Amino acid sequence: MTGIPEDDVLADEFAVPEGVRPVVDRVLTFIEGEVLPYEEEHAEHVGGPLEYLDEDGRMTPEARALRDEIQERAGEAGIYALHMPEEVGGGGLSPLEHFYVQEAVFRHGTGFGSSLARAVMAWTEGPSPALLHLDEGQRGEWLDPLIDGTESACICITEPNAGSDVTAIETEAKKDGDEWVIDGHKRYITNAVYADTAQVLARTDRADGTEGMAMFLVDTENPGYEVGRMNENIMMDGITADVHLEDCRVGDDQMVGGIGDGLPLALSWVNWRRACRPGMCVGMGRYLLDRMLSYAKERETFGEPIGSNQAIQWPIADTATEIHAVRNMATTMLAEYEGMADLADLRQPEAARRRLSMLKYYPEDRLFDWSDRAIQVLGGYGLMRAGGVERVFRVARNLRIPAGTTEVQKRTIARTLGLE
Ligand SMILES: Cc1cc2nc3c(=O)[nH]c(=O)nc-3n(C[C@H](O)[C@H](O)[C@H](O)COP(=O)(O)OP(=O)(O)OC[C@H]3O[C@@H](n4cnc5c(N)ncnc54)[C@H](O)[C@@H]3O)c2cc1C
Repeated sequence: MTGIPEDDVLADEFAVPEGVRPVVDRVLTFIEGEVLPYEEEHAEHVGGPLEYLDEDGRMTPEARALRDEIQERAGEAGIYALHMPEEVGGGGLSPLEHFYVQEAVFRHGTGFGSSLARAVMAWTEGPSPALLHLDEGQRGEWLDPLIDGTESACICITEPNAGSDVTAIETEAKKDGDEWVIDGHKRYITNAVYADTAQVLARTDRADGTEGMAMFLVDTENPGYEVGRMNENIMMDGITADVHLEDCRVGDDQMVGGIGDGLPLALSWVNWRRACRPGMCVGMGRYLLDRMLSYAKERETFGEPIGSNQAIQWPIADTATEIHAVRNMATTMLAEYEGMADLADLRQPEAARRRLSMLKYYPEDRLFDWSDRAIQVLGGYGLMRAGGVERVFRVARNLRIPAGTTEVQKRTIARTLGLE
């Protein structure tokens, strides 16, 4: 799954703007020079789910240690938190500039291929623009270790009875002197198992509805934080689990922003993930296109390459066309978004929200089609791990649920168009 693809028929047409080229090259040099050799050296721990998962479906400590090592090295190289502003130690890239970095990483089949390469760029476990709402005093303790990659986080929004409808959460934070006492049950929490910090959305006052919600930072060493059952899933990530918060006591200084900011902060975190989706999808799409093209040229049936059949040409032609369409949509709409809002803004204009929802669901839906076609073009090999595309299919299928389902994006789009 890892490795630099040989074919790149569309490279000249998919140019990267001059200003972003140096950082994209820096990331790719890091992956080629440091990650791929390291991954090969330790393949017995990280080669695939059979190697990196234990019998409970949890990432093994060995695999996690290797992943942490790469994350820290990426932090030292200044490429782990490129999306965060320079004033907090990030790379200062805008969402559009970050698109090109994501595209390059996922295009090379590395960002999703293994537990290691994923660690080069901040993901769910990394620092989000929502944390820019921490004050100076809080940043040193909670934000700095996430920016330099020495620690990781998880975000605890979803619960057994609250997924798409975040306003239905039941987790409560009650004031007790100088402390808050959090009780609740969170579900499907990525990196719950290994996080140093949990960002927890809780109700401070049920009567105040969404105004009575706050976001707390919980040290996962806190005796009130407990990882529950593993949520083994289609991604086979080995890090997603339930979280139980029981008599979990935190200080006032562990609240992000103030009471009433909880829901907008959670949405700011989610918006960051939505803005990252097009780069991932276009990058993976280009990887799939390469795999389809090279297989269509090499594989022969009935005395000729399968690529000489229209039945194989059409899905490839459709995919190439749609990748162009999604890439153009993404670069245009991310630039438009930047003219309207910032990912850290707690109040997003309707037109900005509409763009983020479009940028999430449409590329993901296309990526799902592209990965399905890639499997079909590669035949049996497409379903084999060695074929390098079944993993993308599983990732693509997953993407359409977390950070807001396809249906919820369409609901937002419809609402911002005046349909209630
Ligand atoms: C692998 C994975 C990792 C995740 N990581 C995290 C994490 O780190 N932190 C976190 O907090 N959460 C996480 N989640 C949770 C994720 O955000 C939710 O699964 C998602 O928001 C959907 O919620 P749900 O699963 O409860 O589905 P539901 O809300 O129960 O929805 C079920 C179905 O109904 C549809 N639906 C719901 N409401 C409507 C409506 N009004 N109109 C039309 N259709 C509707 C949905 O689109 C969906 O198809 C993760 C999920 C997965 C699968």
